[in-house]
Amino acid sequence: MWYLSTRNEKIRKTPAEAILKGIADDGGLYMPECFCSAKFPMDSLTKMSGKEISAKVLSLLFSGDSMFPEAEDKAEAFLGAVKRGYDGKFDDEDYAPLAKVGNAFVMELYHGPTCAFKDVALQLLPQLVAEAKRATGMKDEIVILTATSGDTGSAALSGFSDVDGTKIIVFYPKHGISAVQERQMVSCKGKNTCVVAVEGNFDDAQSGVKNIFATLDLPEGVKLSSANSINIGRLAPQVAYYFKAYKDLINGNEIKMGDKVNFIVPTGNFGDILAGYFAMQMGLPVGKLVCASNENKVLTDFFENGVYNKNRDFHVTKSPSMDILISSNLERLLYLVCGAEKCAAYMKDLKEKGEYKITKEELDAIKSVFDAGFANDETTLDVIKSVYEKHGYIMDTHTAVAWKVYEDWAKENENGYKSVVLSTASAYKFSNSVMNAIGKEYDDEFDALEKLNAITGAKIPGSLVGIKEKPVVHKNVVKKEDMLTFVRDMVGKKEWTK
Ligand SMILES: *Cc1c(COP(=O)(O)O)cnc(C)c1O
Repeated sequence: MWYLSTRNEKIRKTPAEAILKGIADDGGLYMPECFCSAKFPMDSLTKMSGKEISAKVLSLLFSGDSMFPEAEDKAEAFLGAVKRGYDGKFDDEDYAPLAKVGNAFVMELYHGPTCAFKDVALQLLPQLVAEAKRATGMKDEIVILTATSGDTGSAALSGFSDVDGTKIIVFYPKHGISAVQERQMVSCKGKNTCVVAVEGNFDDAQSGVKNIFATLDLPEGVKLSSANSINIGRLAPQVAYYFKAYKDLINGNEIKMGDKVNFIVPTGNFGDILAGYFAMQMGLPVGKLVCASNENKVLTDFFENGVYNKNRDFHVTKSPSMDILISSNLERLLYLVCGAEKCAAYMKDLKEKGEYKITKEELDAIKSVFDAGFANDETTLDVIKSVYEKHGYIMDTHTAVAWKVYEDWAKENENGYKSVVLSTASAYKFSNSVMNAIGKEYDDEFDALEKLNAITGAKIPGSLVGIKEKPVVHKNVVKKEDMLTFVRDMVGKKEWTK
């Protein structure tokens, strides 16, 4: 399988090279040349374990000899990587259990070490990076550079902490993530880790990181890569859980093989939902992919009228991991629908004017698969309360955005297929908002966590027990225009001290 830049198909890399580079030199994102050789063997799906499904998906998307060159059975080789990444890391042996809530299903993707769905990808990415380095004989040190809207940072730190041959720098918006999210990151002890607050929002941090990729001259023996969903190694593991949910629905006698299923996905950078589209390209019977946004509803508007316009007010919401106005992975969908040349032109418009408009035909093609909706903070909190009262099920704010969008969407678009709402974070990660929703308010987020536990009785995830007492190790704060200088300074140092 070749990976091509979304902006220029002449830029071609092997899977290993694409994983190691993260983003193409022209600023484009890597895409598989074709899904034709990556069809999932649906006939064997119901007999496979969750980890075997992951391994199969990886072996199809990363086929060829750039990864595990000596392995005869690639799926078997990838299964080793999946086990090294996942075993003992999830508080449920199943990395993506399904819960039935009312007429729909909630896929709980938050049972990993940092309590957000990003763990599913980021516990595995270091294994993929390590294998890509080994298989290509690369001796350089990889510095992972990441911008986070809250959850990628802690998940990436957890995955890469003290992994040999790697270092990781995480930038987060100083105001706009939850206290628990911040403490998870700034308490990270790994000696190869560096956490930095940026005076700005997520888009500032992400643009800063993209700029560093494009402009920084690196010292000999150092290469940059990304743990954001712009890295194909991050996206691929997410494809697997769509297949896994489908398997669980069949095995639970909810659907028959071949039936379509709708997926409703709380969306920020458009990575998670795009993984669902990849699954569909690989043969999963999908009805609709419904893109759920919070008040930063740039995607809802785009799906409505074909105009992507980021020139608007940025809202800090109670679902902060979705507070994003530039959804990077939409570029990959545009590439599939319009081709590289037009995709490059749209991205140029976005950079220069903050806006682009696709044609009606392109929009129609997209809408044959995607629908979209949004929920504001008020309705999000209402829905947490109503779902809790009606079904005894507690969901976090991001999941609640998707649930609300699902309820609204189902009223008008009922297509007779089963629906799965992706749950991307544990309620405990956003306990203040969740407590607020179910009736009580606390000033201290850490107190709210304990109160939520007292009321609902749901188990506090191990990694959040005692989070309040974890000492702050990282205290860096930079202005957005100083990110480049900061990174230049850090990559020049052999050892990092805190
Ligand atoms: C990152 C994140 C999202 C958004 O996922 P994308 O892949 O960026 O669309 C949604 N919910 C939570 C809790 C997240 O951490």
